[in-house]
Amino acid sequence: MEKQQLLYEGKAKKVYATDDPELLIVSYKDDATAFNGVKRGTIAGKGVINNKMSNRLMRMLENAGIPTHLVRELSDRETLVRQVEIIPLEVIVRNISAGSFSQRYGVGEGIEFEYPTVEYSYKNDALGDPLITGDAAMALRLATRSELALIRQYALRIDHELTKFWQKCGVTLVDFKLEFGRLTDGTIVLADEISPDTCRLWDSATGEKLDKDRFRRDLGGVEEAYREIMRRLEANDPV
Ligand code: UDP
Repeated sequence: MEKQQLLYEGKAKKVYATDDPELLIVSYKDDATAFNGVKRGTIAGKGVINNKMSNRLMRMLENAGIPTHLVRELSDRETLVRQVEIIPLEVIVRNISAGSFSQRYGVGEGIEFEYPTVEYSYKNDALGDPLITGDAAMALRLATRSELALIRQYALRIDHELTKFWQKCGVTLVDFKLEFGRLTDGTIVLADEISPDTCRLWDSATGEKLDKDRFRRDLGGVEEAYREIMRRLEANDPV
């Protein structure tokens, strides 16, 4: 598969065209940003870890019947994916209070929910990715009613599968962010990535944070945390 022109460069990834219009190459960078790009840095080795982790978790989800954009890993940092039209919603699933949920509702982190919550943010940097209701997303024609219903169903199934897998690794899945896209025929598939950049992952025994919050909150040991979470994944191969 031949890598052609750079189509898009985001905060953590570059996307290239290929000789097939339905396929793209994603290249993962070590760059990290937080707070809508205000905080910037690099996390050595992150691109390789996020690429491999995301691919293995997506393969596991495919095996559980959830369609994804993944085609195949090309190298340490590069993966071939199906081209999709990204639905501009961040789909956030939470099992335990943390981050913006704790801030919004004035509660501490670490409260376990009886049922997971699904919420949406409108992907719009100029607006700071505001929280959005399903009705407003439909009013803005970001997605149809049936697409939103399917996305919610997939998000909850993904939560179930990921929670089960991370439990085997001695890791608690606190919350995570998903993005979905449409194939050319309109099929909804999971896109973007699943990694320590997009999930909160706490050591089940000690509560230690093994995710991007170490970078966001200047907790130190960022690279070590990424390496440790990857080690746990590899010790419990998801596929
Ligand atoms: N998240 C993400 N990208 C974003 C915002 C959130 O990947 O732009 C992930 C984040 O890593 C966490 C979950 O979504 O696992 C919930 O994040 P939250 O809404 O609490 O926002 P934050 O506190 O990270 O700003």
